[in-house]
Amino acid sequence: MPNSPSDFLVVGGGIVGLATAWQLANRFPDAKICLLEKESDLAAHQSGRNSGVLHSGIYYTPGSLKAITCHAGRQMMVAFCQTESIRLDICGKIIVAVDEEEVPRLEAIHERGLENGIRCRMIDQDEIAEREPHASGVRAIHVPESGIVDYPAVCRRLAELLRAKGHRIEMGQRVVRIDSTASHVNVATEQTTFQTGFLVTCGGLYSDHLVKLAGLSSPAKIVPFRGEYYELKEDRRSLCRNLIYPVPDPKFPFLGVHFTRMVSGEVECGPNAVFALAREGYSWGTIRLRELAESLSYGGFLKLASRHWKMGLGEIHRSLSKGAFVRALQRLIPKIESQDLRPCRAGVRAQAIAQDGTMVDDFLWVTDRRMVHVCNAPSPAATASLEIGRRISERVEETTRL
Ligand SMILES: Cc1cc2nc3c(=O)[nH]c(=O)nc-3n(C[C@H](O)[C@H](O)[C@H](O)COP(=O)(O)OP(=O)(O)OC[C@H]3O[C@@H](n4cnc5c(N)ncnc54)[C@H](O)[C@@H]3O)c2cc1C
Repeated sequence: MPNSPSDFLVVGGGIVGLATAWQLANRFPDAKICLLEKESDLAAHQSGRNSGVLHSGIYYTPGSLKAITCHAGRQMMVAFCQTESIRLDICGKIIVAVDEEEVPRLEAIHERGLENGIRCRMIDQDEIAEREPHASGVRAIHVPESGIVDYPAVCRRLAELLRAKGHRIEMGQRVVRIDSTASHVNVATEQTTFQTGFLVTCGGLYSDHLVKLAGLSSPAKIVPFRGEYYELKEDRRSLCRNLIYPVPDPKFPFLGVHFTRMVSGEVECGPNAVFALAREGYSWGTIRLRELAESLSYGGFLKLASRHWKMGLGEIHRSLSKGAFVRALQRLIPKIESQDLRPCRAGVRAQAIAQDGTMVDDFLWVTDRRMVHVCNAPSPAATASLEIGRRISERVEETTRL
């Protein structure tokens, strides 16, 4: 069947792509929208394999896109879940300093949170014990507006809303070529070609490849970092009531292994951050030589690895040794024992790394006359997705008006 041209075509059936398509549909009610996803399920990668946390935005540099979109996106996500009856619990979280040495860093996060307009306050040992009786720490920050949410359900609902308005969501369509002409963009998949007036790519772990397919140069390359989780066995779930986080290392964009109660009731512990041997490498056994060679021959990654090899080896050790993983968790909950935990799923983070070896911290998208490409959408992009989508749809409107 020939594909009728669309006004907007979105690549990527993760939460950013779906939120963007939904916001385009809201902004341009008469437009025809088509979304292409290479997998047979929506949210098959980062959006369906994350911690399920609705972040408050406490950590991010004031004024950054992360800080601004997390704040606005969180409110939009709460409203969306309430309207659409999607499981959500604003249960609050604590960020715990386990010793006096960590307190100055904790205080700096608290100040940053206040600057970002987040409701948060420092609490003492007594209040830590009241909120999380099994957590151990000298001081903590309590963030009441953090929560947990069912992101895959958000993705499914966004897709239903789009389909109900007559928009197309095509599964099993891997985009392999993008050609821009004066009047439209041709997007070829392994099966067929789709014509569109304007293209938005939200390709997660392959975002840089899509930018390249479009003939543009990507400001950074994606290097995959796997995040592995354990879960508490049913009879030990009471060790964590809600969300317990460590003080993050400011040199890294990852938050450190933490405890997360999921909306389904399980308590997950993790994720760590190990270099993955494939972009969708959810275990050590998944190796894609071409992708591995791409990471290992990238100057930006080699510079990063030469600076942080010790940290990297520590993460590999924690990945291969359950004992080492448990010891990291015991810093927050000393009572945890190895037999309380069983391995569960893993996710892979799309970490954008610049040529100079720095990890791209903020959200990043590049615009061309007929395209917007989301190049970097790491955590908290699930929380911020509805606002990211709104901003992209605004950018599309500005660009198409010219
Ligand atoms: C372990 C982990 C924990 C996290 N925890 C949280 C959290 O608690 N809270 C939070 O807010 N954020 C969290 N994040 C971050 C969040 O999950 C991501 O920022 C977000 O899901 C990114 O969404 P996305 O749509 O950009 O990417 P994805 O969900 O990865 O979607 C991209 C989609 O594009 C498709 N695609 C790629 N290439 C092509 C192609 N050529 N043709 C067609 N389709 C293509 C892929 O198949 C994929 O479905 C976490 C991430 C990880 C990995």
